[in-house]
Amino acid sequence: MPKISMKNPIVEIDGDEMTRVLWALIKEKLLLPFVDLKTEYYDLSITNRDRTQDSVTVDCAHAILRLGVGVKCATITSTVERQAEYKLGALTASPNATIRSMLDGTVFRKPITVSCIKSAIGTWKKPIIIARHAYGDVYKNAEMLIPAAGKVELVWTGADGAEQRILVSDMKAPGIVQGMHNLDESIRSFARCCFRLALDEKLPLWFAAKDTISKIYDGRFKALFEELYEREYRKAGVSYTYSLIDDALARIVKHEGGIIWACKNYDGDVMSDMVASASGSLAMMTSVLVSPEGAFEYEAAHGTVQRHYYRWQKGEKTSTNPVALIFAWTGALAKRAELDGTPPLFDFAKRLEAATLSTIESGSMTADLAAIADPKPQRALDSWEFIDAVGGTAGA
Ligand code: NAP
Ligand code: MG
Repeated sequence: MPKISMKNPIVEIDGDEMTRVLWALIKEKLLLPFVDLKTEYYDLSITNRDRTQDSVTVDCAHAILRLGVGVKCATITSTVERQAEYKLGALTASPNATIRSMLDGTVFRKPITVSCIKSAIGTWKKPIIIARHAYGDVYKNAEMLIPAAGKVELVWTGADGAEQRILVSDMKAPGIVQGMHNLDESIRSFARCCFRLALDEKLPLWFAAKDTISKIYDGRFKALFEELYEREYRKAGVSYTYSLIDDALARIVKHEGGIIWACKNYDGDVMSDMVASASGSLAMMTSVLVSPEGAFEYEAAHGTVQRHYYRWQKGEKTSTNPVALIFAWTGALAKRAELDGTPPLFDFAKRLEAATLSTIESGSMTADLAAIADPKPQRALDSWEFIDAVGGTAGA
């Protein structure tokens, strides 16, 4: 059978540990036999980021903006422990934070559902899509250890020398302080991405923050969402609700699902893992970053699955779930096909997704799912067996 061709390349961003092992396996078994894969490759392994002083991360973000579509493997965020483990010269920034802040926009995360896995939250009948703002707040903060008593102030100095200053705290003892920011432009594009998806998918949009406590900061988010809603999306028929984040959470655990839940950056980080884990597994979640310029980066929502990697290094065939990585690839290929007008590539991506789901539904799955599936499979497959089973279904 001739391979499916691609008009334009996608940006391929390789990563670390167990996900890097699965990445190569997915390409070898599920993509290369069927598609004449065109990619621009960037190696974001922690050692290459260290060697290039992280310029490779900046280069790959530029490449996503240029080519419009990227697919990313999970990567290690360096810490002092990792610095020692991988003998790194210096600590580099979180690659996801770097890419997200260069692309701006919004991360959408949606559970991948299969009939044999019931959500831990019984009322959820339909997926809850988390829309996470990808810029600023605590991910671009400035923080300081305060060594002794003293005044902490926030100061803004305009280009013309104008100044605003407020007291954060007149500290009587050592402690800590943190400064965060966001930009109107970024909040507006976050809101627009959310309203657009709500309109396209005909789903209600909820936005939640804490403007009773953070009257200016969270209040600004609330006001900019409302401004855009009143100007454009109310008349387009979108259903939109603002609530306090604690109230939203309390209502969501009793909701039937089928909504988009827009969250600020940190809330989205936490809530997307809650939704993923309640829906079955971190590996059963799609994640895509949508930039206001119309660039898309697809990734898995989980990390590098470090503990499994150490077992794999000792020769064990681990049962690591590759579904989120497979869906990162299919998401990117389907988007490439949509942008390029190449239906055979689009159909291939959708066939591979369907093959992955039907493989699980027919009882072949990794250990994380086998533990919670109903009916229970006789045994869990390792990742190699599972990927072969998907390949068998996809090629059939
Ligand atoms: P993790 O890699 O998401 O794994 C945490 C645990 O969740 C695993 O030990 C495993 O549990 C389970 N798990 C996650 N993905 C799984 C999968 N595909 N199949 C089966 N089980 C899965 O998080 P972490 O261990 O906290 O972080 C490891 C590294 O990933 C860190 O260096 C972190 O910086 C990085 N990270 C990267 C990203 C990203 O690039 N997007 C995101 C988060 C973290 P069991 O061990 O119980 O089986
Ligand atoms: Mg997280």
